[in-house]
Amino acid sequence: MKVAIITGITGQDGAYLSKFLLEKGYKVVGITRSINSSNLEGLDFLNILNEVELIEANVFDLSNIIRILEKYKPDEFYNLAAQSSVGLSFEQPIGTLEYNIISVANILEAIRIVGKGIKVYQSSSSEMFGNVPKYILPIEENFIIRPASPYAISKAAAHWISVNYREAYQIFVSSGILFNHESVLRRPNFVTKKIISGAIKIKAGKLDKLKLGNIAIKRDWGYAPNYVEAMWKMLNVKKPDDYIISTGEAHSLEEFVDKTFKYLNLDHNKFVITDTKLLRPVDLEIIYGNPTKAKTELGWNYQMSFDELITRLIEDEYRYLSWRKNKND
Ligand code: NAP
Repeated sequence: MKVAIITGITGQDGAYLSKFLLEKGYKVVGITRSINSSNLEGLDFLNILNEVELIEANVFDLSNIIRILEKYKPDEFYNLAAQSSVGLSFEQPIGTLEYNIISVANILEAIRIVGKGIKVYQSSSSEMFGNVPKYILPIEENFIIRPASPYAISKAAAHWISVNYREAYQIFVSSGILFNHESVLRRPNFVTKKIISGAIKIKAGKLDKLKLGNIAIKRDWGYAPNYVEAMWKMLNVKKPDDYIISTGEAHSLEEFVDKTFKYLNLDHNKFVITDTKLLRPVDLEIIYGNPTKAKTELGWNYQMSFDELITRLIEDEYRYLSWRKNKND
């Protein structure tokens, strides 16, 4: 039985990746900062809370990671834990930089010392590229990295640490440069979750207005459960490398809002208002990525259209709400 360790298992991607790996027959060990205070609802909703082994660890403590590697002897290590919100990173720049960079250095250092055969996945982000001139879009793996937020800077540093450990110490570490991917398990502070759950509340008469920041921005949005497969594929090819995971299309946040409200037979113009407090000091106008390398080299095959994504997110949200209601009754 193969063993996978996942940091950030309680997050959106951690839960879906765990489900995917369990179905492949892996033993899944998940690292969390605190079992008691972490949100285990995603794992519970996917019905895998009792299938994974959860352990508490401090990724700032090198000896702690070394002990975990020696105890579990994992085949694969997926590093998903991070302060993952761009917006929050402007409020908490130091904490974001510290966690997102030092954790990666510690994990790779522990692997260099006691686990050189372990294959590592590092969660990189499209945000690393910053405001790319429109004429050179879509973004490809070898584009210049020019991050435009503390989050993006932390992910860029973590990406280069990964590349350095790959080149300097021949560690199998792949960097997945994922564009936005969404699901019902997104935290409430992420805009897509806010839009879907807000529109459903408005439909039910439980909310009057939905406050959003800049809805002109354009992003490349995919479906998270299909993106975690690419992470596994990256660790199951001959060589480690960097891969862009994206749909190849950009849509504005306004389109996202409009389609969500239309699905629920609502006119978003009546309910959505701009809140200037939600505008970011710097925002990326438009980004989308070219997933050709992942499709040809990994055989990653993403087919879902933007319309299908919106439908899926709304249906999943209704399923989740009824699951929560049953649980609380
Ligand atoms: P998420 O839902 O925010 O989960 C991240 C997990 O990291 C949390 O559940 C938390 O688990 C742990 N964590 C550790 N330190 C943290 C901190 N200082 N603040 C907040 N959480 C912290 O993230 P995700 O959407 O699954 O994304 C997984 C990884 O992919 C992240 O590294 C993210 O930056 C990256 N990424 C995501 C996207 C996307 O669109 N979702 C795109 C590109 C890259 P515990 O509380 O249990 O410790």
